[in-house]
Amino acid sequence: MTAALVDNFGREVTYVRISVTDRCDFRCVYCMAEDMTFLPKSQILSLEEIEAIARNLVACGVTKIRLTGGEPLVRPGVVGLVERLKAMSGLRELCMTTNGGQLDKYSVPLKDAGLDRLNISLDTLDPERFRQLTRTGRLERVLAGIDAARDAGFEHTKLNAVVLKGRNDDEVVPLVRFALERGLDISFIEEMPLGVITEHDRAEAFCSSDEIRERLGEAFDLSPMSVDTGGPSRYWRAEGYEANRIGFISPHSHNFCGDCNRVRLTTEGRLLLCLGNEHSMDFREIIRSRPGDDLAVQRALHEAMKLKPERHYFSHDSEPQILRFMNATGG
Ligand code: SAM
Ligand code: SF4
Repeated sequence: MTAALVDNFGREVTYVRISVTDRCDFRCVYCMAEDMTFLPKSQILSLEEIEAIARNLVACGVTKIRLTGGEPLVRPGVVGLVERLKAMSGLRELCMTTNGGQLDKYSVPLKDAGLDRLNISLDTLDPERFRQLTRTGRLERVLAGIDAARDAGFEHTKLNAVVLKGRNDDEVVPLVRFALERGLDISFIEEMPLGVITEHDRAEAFCSSDEIRERLGEAFDLSPMSVDTGGPSRYWRAEGYEANRIGFISPHSHNFCGDCNRVRLTTEGRLLLCLGNEHSMDFREIIRSRPGDDLAVQRALHEAMKLKPERHYFSHDSEPQILRFMNATGG
C-alpha cells in the first residue's frame, strides 16, 4: 500500500504542510483575534504522532513537507522533529514557515538538524506598524532573525508579506528592495477570509496582486517567470536581480486549484484537503485507536484523497467563509 496519493481529479499530492502548534508569540491582525483561545494539549498531536503520520505520507509519495503553525518555533522539541523528519528516505525537501522572531536562537540548530529552507513573514519595515500589525511582535527581533538565518547558511530564504490596503500597501516597493538587496525571494499574499477577526474589515483591506504588481512596476522592470511550483504563486523577476523571485499568492484574483498538489495536517490531526473548504479526515482518531498500524494510516490517506474538492470559492465578502483560523490550519 505505497501507491501515490492521487485525487478524483487526477492531481497527485506530493506536498504537505503540517501545523505543529496553534500557539504563537505574535497576534497578527489578519490571522488571530486579540484574545485567542488555544486548543487543550490533549487535542493536539504529539510530536510522535506527527512523525508517524508524516512517515506514512512519505511512504505514499509525499516528497515535500513544510512545518508551520501557529509559530513552529514555540513548540518545544520542534528541532528534534526536524531531525527525525529529515532522516526519512523519500523526503526531498523539508521547509519551515516562521515569523522569524526566534530565529536568532534557532537558525543554527535548525540548519544542523537538516532543515532545507525557511520562509519568514515580514509585512512592514516600520517598527511601530510592525507592532500594530503583529500586536506583540518586535521588528528588530525579526530583522536579527533574518540575518541569523543567512549567517547559519540558509539559502533561497523567502519573505512572505500579507498586504492590507491602508496598512502596508505603500511599503511593497521598500519590501522588495529589502529582499532583493539581501538576495532573498519575496511573496505577496492576498488576505484570505479565515477565522472571525474584528480588527479590520477584510473587504476594505483587500489589496489584489494585480494592484501590488502595478505599484512594483513603477519602481522595477518586471518580467514573468515560467516556474510552476504546483501552488498558488505566480512569479516575476526584476531586472538586475535575476537570481531572485517576486511571487504573488492570489487565492482571490487567480484560481490556482487546477494544479494543486498539496494538503494540510492541522494541529489537531485533521488532514485538510483544501485550504478553502472544510473537507477533512481525522487522523488523530485513526492513530490513537490503532497505534503503530501504518497500513491503516496509509489506507486512510488513500481514502482521504477522494474527499479533495475540485476548487475553493473564496470571495471578497467581509463575512468569513471559513470559520477556522489560519494558525490551527497551517498557513
Ligand atoms: N507563524 C508563522 C508565520 O507567521 O510565518 C507560520 C504560520 S502563519 C499562519 C503562515 C503564513 O500565513 C504567514 O505568512 C501569514 O502572514 C499568513 N497568514 C495568516 N493569516 C492569513 C490570512 N488570513 N490571509 C492570508 N495569509 C495569512
Ligand atoms: Fe502567529 Fe504567524 Fe499567525 Fe502571525 S501569521 S499570528 S506570526 S501564526
